[in-house]
Amino acid sequence: MDRLHNQKIWDIANALQLPTNGSPADAILAHCVERAGAMLADFPDCATPSNLLDIMAATLGTSFEVVRSDDELLALQKRYVQGGELGFVNLDKELHGEVYGVTYRRMTARTGERPFVSVIDCRGDKALRSYFTKWHEIGHLLILSDQQRTTYKRTHARGTSKDPEEILVDAIAGHMGFLPQFLVPEIGNDVAFAEVDRIKGKLCPEASTLASAIAYAKHHHEPCVLIEAKLAFKKDEEADMLQGSFGFYEPPTPKLRVQVVVPSENAKEHGLYIPKKYRVPEVSVIHRVHEGLQDYGVASECMSMWETSDGKRLGALQVRVEARKSFDAVLALISLAGGSPQYPSSNKKKRHSDGAHDSADRF
Ligand SMILES: [Zn+2]
Repeated sequence: MDRLHNQKIWDIANALQLPTNGSPADAILAHCVERAGAMLADFPDCATPSNLLDIMAATLGTSFEVVRSDDELLALQKRYVQGGELGFVNLDKELHGEVYGVTYRRMTARTGERPFVSVIDCRGDKALRSYFTKWHEIGHLLILSDQQRTTYKRTHARGTSKDPEEILVDAIAGHMGFLPQFLVPEIGNDVAFAEVDRIKGKLCPEASTLASAIAYAKHHHEPCVLIEAKLAFKKDEEADMLQGSFGFYEPPTPKLRVQVVVPSENAKEHGLYIPKKYRVPEVSVIHRVHEGLQDYGVASECMSMWETSDGKRLGALQVRVEARKSFDAVLALISLAGGSPQYPSSNKKKRHSDGAHDSADRF
């Protein structure tokens, strides 16, 4: 959130009258969590973030309209326009490219009706993000000051994916969708996809596996790293290709590289670290799963097999690698060997319950 020291983010924090002596993004996130706490106090039976999502939508005054096809989108658009919601005239144009959702103020809402409506685009691959998109739209409403709430018309379309407000709202969505007070008590000692599936099924079945695995790794008390690996070029290869400077030479072929890295808070202090863009070793189970011979694999590996093209290697560290195919990517959970020796995973408790590791645990 450090990169969000931006005027737009300061303006949001100021409008919400938040203390601005630290990171404005952190202050805004804390404000959102506080509002969630206040809503949860009114609904003590709420036990999952999915449930909290519905409560927040009701409290903030929006309802979700999910569209799963072009036909559904046009039918929804027609229904709202005919009902006097003229903002919907451009709905089909709003939901293009990287735009997954839009929230409008209703012009014809009667007393007692929710003043907003949030359209969630679930056409094609966008459906994978439905849970995140709902939280994103809630994020926009959460950061409105009381004054802004009364004049607010619609969420801004994502101009570029670098728009600081959109990055902020994404961060809010990622946090609120897996609110630690619900997630953390569910995380046991194992580091395993079976656990990601179980927790997702219990707390937020609509969430994507990737988003669930990210939240799981981030909040795990055992040292672990989640990576997403995909075919990609090196940075300099990308630059060369953009310039078209290969001439008669054969262009490079993309290699399986780390695109997303999410460490647990204590991963680095236990020596568990993988830089972004690193090439996945061909002998790793991650590579085998990517090649499609198997959809899933688990192996004991040494981190020293990770090496750059100029010969740098990661330090020796024995790890457990669990890899799972996910569309055109492979997700992998990497944890210290000995941390989770059994598969299939269960909720079996391990030797260490306090998270402490001696060196024997690592090798
Ligand atoms: Zn947005």
